[in-house]
Amino acid sequence: MGNKQEEEGEEYLFKIVVIGDSAVGKSNLLSRFARDEFDLHSKATVGVEFQTQVLEVEGKEVKAQVWDTAGQERFRAVTSAYYRGAFGALLVYDITRRTTFDSIKRWLDELNTHCDTTVARILVGNKCDLENIRDVSIDEGKSLAQEEGLFFIETSALDSTNVNAAFEIVIRQIYNDVS
Ligand code: GDP
Ligand code: MG
Repeated sequence: MGNKQEEEGEEYLFKIVVIGDSAVGKSNLLSRFARDEFDLHSKATVGVEFQTQVLEVEGKEVKAQVWDTAGQERFRAVTSAYYRGAFGALLVYDITRRTTFDSIKRWLDELNTHCDTTVARILVGNKCDLENIRDVSIDEGKSLAQEEGLFFIETSALDSTNVNAAFEIVIRQIYNDVS
């Protein structure tokens, strides 16, 4: 029985990168997804390169290895090693800060210079719990995503809204691309 399971249990390992301006909530999206944790006072992530989360997609075990920038984005110094081998990307902005939305094109350019276009991408408008100080409308997010051929979702790492969905959309897309 064990053998049979092993034979059927093809393993998938997908590297996914999370990019976007400083303080948009990248590290908290990742900790919410991987550990169901949130940190109100999170400082620049130190040490942790990636976290792994196991999911089942169409009965197959998929390991999502999600990389976090460790704060290099403040110095515009996210290295090519960060992008190497990525199958998917979350491009994150903060719906309460328009500058972070305007930066998305630059992040897309950077992604395109390091990865080929088959990388599954989703545009993520984070902090949707802060509706009262929203600075970027849902429609603006949707149209940018449509222009650039990205999936789109709004999330809150604080109250968990759509966090798993954001990662799962990317993971399913990758799975469809490779299987
Ligand atoms: P990073 O620099 O992109 O990794 O951003 P962090 O994950 O460190 O988050 C930056 C700040 O935004 C922290 O103070 C977080 O507590 C806060 N934050 C992150 N996600 C959310 C969210 O969904 N809602 C709210 N209200 N705050 C958030
Ligand atoms: Mg961070």
